[in-house]
Amino acid sequence: MLYTIADMKDNKKIQLIENELKEIKEKLSKLGTMHPGGITKQYQKCYNPTCKCMREKNPQKHGPYHKLSYVYHGKPVCRFVRAACAEEMKIRVENYKQFRALTDRWIELSIDQGVIDIFDNPPKA
Ligand SMILES: [Zn+2]
Repeated sequence: MLYTIADMKDNKKIQLIENELKEIKEKLSKLGTMHPGGITKQYQKCYNPTCKCMREKNPQKHGPYHKLSYVYHGKPVCRFVRAACAEEMKIRVENYKQFRALTDRWIELSIDQGVIDIFDNPPKA
């Protein structure tokens, strides 16, 4: 098969894209348990008038409580995570961020790939 110089540049680009896609798929296959969302620390009042959280001077709210928030199929969800599970949930949330970053890059590379081999250089019929 004969290639023009422009084709060879595109072949090099396609090769780089395919190499990165392979890396992305390997990383995705190694991702651990994940969970969508973000975790924030919350401090709350219990409204018991004799409690330290209700003192007028230097009130001490209860907490921190770890609140997980996410949106799934358009529905917002908020849940409190037990202190003993907060670290594990942070790891899962981090894995999900990795998942999203990797799949976003996969989409970006797929668009680049389409420009090169479908739009700019359609196969000759
Ligand atoms: Zn209280």
